[in-house]
Amino acid sequence: MSKSTAQIRQAFLNFFADKGHQKVSSSSLVPSDDPTLLFTNAGMNQFKDVFLGTEQRKYTRATSSQRCVRAGGKHNDLENVGYTARHHTFFEMLGNFSFGDYFKQQAIAYAWTFLTQELKLPKEKLLVTIYSEDDEAFDIWHNEIGVPKEKIIRIATSDNFWSMGDTGPCGPCSEIFYDHGEHIWGGPPGTPEEDGDRFIEIWNLVFMQFNRQANGDMLPLPKPSIDTGMGLERISAILQNVHSNYEIDIFQNLIKATAEIVGTSSLEDKSLRVVADHIRSCSFLISDGVMPSNEGRGYVLRRIIRRAVRHGNKLGAKGVFFYKLVAALATEMGDAYPELNEQRAVIEKVLRVEEEQFSRTLERGMLILNDALSELEGKVVPGELVFKLYDTYGFPADLTNDVAREKGLSIDEEGFEQAMAEQRKRAQKASNFDLDYNEQLRSDLESVFVGYELEQNTAQIKEIFVQ
Ligand code: ATP
Ligand code: MG
Ligand code: MG
Ligand code: MG
Repeated sequence: MSKSTAQIRQAFLNFFADKGHQKVSSSSLVPSDDPTLLFTNAGMNQFKDVFLGTEQRKYTRATSSQRCVRAGGKHNDLENVGYTARHHTFFEMLGNFSFGDYFKQQAIAYAWTFLTQELKLPKEKLLVTIYSEDDEAFDIWHNEIGVPKEKIIRIATSDNFWSMGDTGPCGPCSEIFYDHGEHIWGGPPGTPEEDGDRFIEIWNLVFMQFNRQANGDMLPLPKPSIDTGMGLERISAILQNVHSNYEIDIFQNLIKATAEIVGTSSLEDKSLRVVADHIRSCSFLISDGVMPSNEGRGYVLRRIIRRAVRHGNKLGAKGVFFYKLVAALATEMGDAYPELNEQRAVIEKVLRVEEEQFSRTLERGMLILNDALSELEGKVVPGELVFKLYDTYGFPADLTNDVAREKGLSIDEEGFEQAMAEQRKRAQKASNFDLDYNEQLRSDLESVFVGYELEQNTAQIKEIFVQ
């Protein structure tokens, strides 16, 4: 019998715990002390200071299953959702970490043993990439592990060289790919067809071995470290004999629940995948304290919710539907993440209010957009229209882009940005006017107070005379 996603998560953590790694809980999606990071997007985030050497822990090896969101910010997979078999806005990253303890050789051996012995993946389906200059990694993969030369691909781009920032810890990576078979379109890494779904990256091993200086010098780190990340949903797909993350247990159940709620029977619809993806990121973001708003993290959340609502609408949902999926999500993931049950009412409420608010303008906005698209000449939606939909109907630009893309069109992002800039200028003027207005209001109020005092005085005088 194939393993459930929950069993795979457990198998990973236990494998590394048996090898002396401390099990560490997932940290929040909202990074606690890193304002440069929009959302937690990798297992290593919570260990950043340990890698930098500014924080000490009682252990030198750790393992975790980290919840991650890649929407907005530097890593943005929002546009990939619904289009590739392997990207989510929310996913779990399994990782093992060494803080100056074991290094390259051991990290490669652990990864290989876990995949081929613990999970029993056929070796011939795996291939690896290394950084072009990393001969040491080549020797380990080839001479010690026994991977044939033609299955070790040298990559010269930053895809295989990781760095924390412009300076500081950095080093080459080695990634493990799985071949889902000839019947699926796509080519191995490093080829023009690599963005297909045949060869899927499952595990990234980062070898932190240099400390990049401001002048570009790469000094060797005194204690090289290891950071790895494997997508739980991607490894589940392999073990459950399916070729898309959206066909694994958790997603199939969420997709079925969505279909039932919106009242559709065709389980293949792309929109179902999008909604099933988005309920995870939205619920986990809310449970980690993010609230929909017009800026920063809250605006990313709002954009994801609105996108989900639009896709639900497209599927034929009658009335508010999105919040109803929280129950199905809690059933799927509540054991691993009890907060989904504890906070279910809050999550549902926030999603419901947000959807109700957006529903009021969604239909009208869609009519206007569809009308405009049917009359459109050329392939680019004008920035003015994208702006109008944003300003009047609450359509985030990425939502309009999503609709346009479905029809083979794109949006004029520059024109949209320009319209936004003009709007900001107008708002600035309006707030100057506000100042004058406030000034006026203050003097009006003052005269009211003066009048009030006078009246009081008159009243007092009257009282005196009456006595
Ligand atoms: P890809 O090239 O497929 O976009 P990546 O190189 O951006 O992946 P890494 O930053 O190396 O990914 O993250 C480590 C692992 O996390 C990946 O090997 C993959 O298994 C998983 N992963 C990354 N992004 C996503 C995503 N959006 N959804 C699901 N899993 C992901
Ligand atoms: Mg990526
Ligand atoms: Mg990659
Ligand atoms: Mg990668």
